[in-house]
Amino acid sequence: MSQLIKPARLLLLGAPGSGKGTQTTRLLKQFPAISSVSSGDLLRKEISSKTQLGLLASGYIQEGKLIPDELIINLLTSYLSNNKWLTPKSTWLLDGFPRTQNQAKVLDSTLDKFNSKLNLVVELNVPEEVILERIENRFVHVPSGRVYNLQYNPPKILGKDDITGEPLTKRPDDNIEVFAKRLQEYKVTMGPLKDYYENQGILKVVSGETSDIIFPKLKELIVNKFD
Ligand code: AMP
Repeated sequence: MSQLIKPARLLLLGAPGSGKGTQTTRLLKQFPAISSVSSGDLLRKEISSKTQLGLLASGYIQEGKLIPDELIINLLTSYLSNNKWLTPKSTWLLDGFPRTQNQAKVLDSTLDKFNSKLNLVVELNVPEEVILERIENRFVHVPSGRVYNLQYNPPKILGKDDITGEPLTKRPDDNIEVFAKRLQEYKVTMGPLKDYYENQGILKVVSGETSDIIFPKLKELIVNKFD
């Protein structure tokens, strides 16, 4: 476990299946001061609770499309505000939001008001063939967002979450057809988003084929900047 001296406000970028969820879990263990939120996890909870937003979102998700900016911005800014993350001393990590340049600009204008801007954006760069293999073997525990991979990171009991024993599920958008659309959508939106953060001087890229290769590089970036 490591302490962080300066407030760290992080964003993880990466194609679907690049391991954002897995890296987040490892970072939270390493740096207990960091709190995290995943936009995909929030949406999956809305869907399983059958809220109005969940019903709307599930149509987009099943087609491999992005949720309209306005909806996702409202969901995430409410989360940030409700959890008291909008303060200059806060330390947190965003996974999956912002995903478009417009979302990034709107988020920045909110964060600016509270003097709590993002200060490190890291792209996880994983080869496409590795990602495709991972997706076929991925299972999730929706209430917690914990991610398992039958090959690299299997649950202790097949089909059950290690901590709660509750059932694991396959994401309906983790099939080849929808996944191809998600990957395409990612490629289209990521260029402008990366340019936006590159211009702010806060974008870094870490590359590797496995979580064990990526994690030490990610950790080093964080330690160097915030310790
Ligand atoms: P993820 O778990 O991050 O792969 O997200 C699953 C799905 O939720 C995506 O394919 C999108 O349909 C939707 N989603 C998650 N985050 C966002 C976002 N920031 N903007 C728009 N749609 C999103």
